Amino acid sequence: MWKVCIRRIESLCSRFLWSGATDRRANAKIVWKTCCLPKAEGGIGLRNFKIWNLTLLLRLGWLLFSGSSSLWVAWHCSHNCPSSYAFWSQVESPSQSWSWRSILRLREILSRFLFSEIHSGQNTSFWFDNWSPLGPLIGVFGREGTRNLRIHIDAPVSASWNAGGWSLPHPRSEQEVNLHLYLTGIPLLSIDRGPDQFFWLTNGIKNRVFSSSKTWDALRPRAAIQDVAKHLWFSGAMPKHAFHFWVTNLNRLPTHSRLASWGLQVQTECCVCNSEIENRDHLMLTCHYATVLWSQVRPPEKLRMMVVQAMVYNIWQQRNNNLHNQTLQPPLVVFKHINRHIINSIYALIHRKKFSSLMQLWLI
Ligand SMILES: [Zn+2]
Repeated sequence: MWKVCIRRIESLCSRFLWSGATDRRANAKIVWKTCCLPKAEGGIGLRNFKIWNLTLLLRLGWLLFSGSSSLWVAWHCSHNCPSSYAFWSQVESPSQSWSWRSILRLREILSRFLFSEIHSGQNTSFWFDNWSPLGPLIGVFGREGTRNLRIHIDAPVSASWNAGGWSLPHPRSEQEVNLHLYLTGIPLLSIDRGPDQFFWLTNGIKNRVFSSSKTWDALRPRAAIQDVAKHLWFSGAMPKHAFHFWVTNLNRLPTHSRLASWGLQVQTECCVCNSEIENRDHLMLTCHYATVLWSQVRPPEKLRMMVVQAMVYNIWQQRNNNLHNQTLQPPLVVFKHINRHIINSIYALIHRKKFSSLMQLWLI
């Protein structure tokens, strides 16, 4: 897929996430890169389209080596890469199709995943394929390696073998010793063993089939596991409350103090109590309105995060109501609303064993 298409799709998805529509301008509170991290690593588990596109392109690269009988593979093997060497060594040119050039540009990444188990040694490139623990040998020995090991640049692995065994010259460097050690430990080459087999290597495990999910997982951006994730995304959490709590936890709510820090001409006082600087911690914890509301609840352990998320969501909603509509419901009215929400949530979950005793706990 064109890079410009990927950027456009990501832009539309971001708009939809933050405004609820694709044709409305939206201020993203959290960068798309973070949104695309798994929930356990601080994101919301969306797919990074660039990496997903890369994963699917790698599948096309895999098909060329996997022995697939598809017409697409047959055509490319006939026209673009009659041998493994031809694939790895060919130079990109404007006369090639855009899709073929896209695959060629992935060769460096492809070589990390593609591993050849040599049987006859005839369809594996000695220098370019990944068939030993050293990786592609051209990267280890360089072009001068062809002279030192006396193996031609376009030769298959079988060129280093004769009826008596491996025919490489006496090793003169540490890498050459390592190569010799590896070769002495693998089964002998023989046409009777059939053609070489290519594997898709992920996390050190050889797979006979391409796995999109494993490849995606190997390529995706990573971040440290965050303990807070289990308080954000748990069984029974209300999605809109959990999402809002995720934004709040990252301190990305557009509070007055944050707006002022961006240079906007706004008053910095809290728009609920009008007496202190409005920031996240004040609004949610120390504002008089919030303290009255928090004093109403004593949630049991199993319901604590569900109640906390509902409280934070409702406090922010009341703050916005007061700011835009000059309407602030009394804390006790808001608490009744939260109480109703918790009871409804428990009813929805009551058929699950671990939630069956919650109603009793909540109503005490
Ligand atoms: Zn306040």
